[in-house]
Amino acid sequence: DTRIARISSAIRVIPDFPKPGILFQDITTLLLDPRAFRDSIDLFVERYKDKNISVVAGIEARGFIFGPPIALAIGAKFVPMRKPKKLPGEVISEEYSLEYGTDVMEMHVGAVQAGERALIVDDLIATGGTLCAAIRLLGYQSARKLFHDMDGGENRPKILERVGVDVVECACVIELPELKGRDRLGDKPLFVLING
Ligand code: 5GP
Repeated sequence: DTRIARISSAIRVIPDFPKPGILFQDITTLLLDPRAFRDSIDLFVERYKDKNISVVAGIEARGFIFGPPIALAIGAKFVPMRKPKKLPGEVISEEYSLEYGTDVMEMHVGAVQAGERALIVDDLIATGGTLCAAIRLLGYQSARKLFHDMDGGENRPKILERVGVDVVECACVIELPELKGRDRLGDKPLFVLING
C-alpha cells in the first residue's frame, strides 16, 4: 500500500528525546503533510466503518489528534482519556506503571454505557502500559474495582451500569515491536499502521 509508505516517510525520528538513548517517533511531521495525515485516518476508517463501534476513546495527548477524525467518519462518539485532574466532572480513574513511578488515567462517569463497542486510539504503543490502563478503565475490571471500592453506596448501581464497554480493538499509528507491548493487551487485538 503506497499510503503506508507515505505515512512512514512522513514520521520523523528524533534521537535522545525526551532523554538520552530514546529514539522518539515524532508524528507532528505527519500532521504537516495533509495527504499522509489523511491516508492514516482513511486506513483506520476503512477498517472500522462497518464494525458497529459507538465509542472512540482517545488517549491524551496524541490520541486526541487521531481519534476525533476517526470517530466523526464512522459515526461514533469521542471520549477523552485524560491525565489526572483535567476533567471537570465526576471521573473514574485507573493507575498504571511507567518506567519510573506510576501515572493515572481518568474518564468521565457517564461518557460510556455498559455494552457499548469501543475502539481505543493512540499514536504509538511502546510497552503497552498506557493502552492496558485504557482497556481497564473502559472495561469490566474498573467495574469490579468500583464495586469493591464504593462499599455499597447509593451511587453504586448507577456507576456500574456506566462502565463495562466492550473494547473491540486498540489502534495506533506506530508500534515499537521490540518492546512487546502487544503481549500486555491480553485478548484485545491491536491494529497498527507501521512499525517503528
Ligand atoms: P507505553 O505505555 O506503550 O509504554 O507508551 C505509549 C505512550 O507513550 C503513548 O501514549 C505514546 O504517545 C507515548 N510515547 C512513548 N514513546 C513515544 C514515541 O517515541 N513517540 C511518540 N509520539 N509517543 C511516544
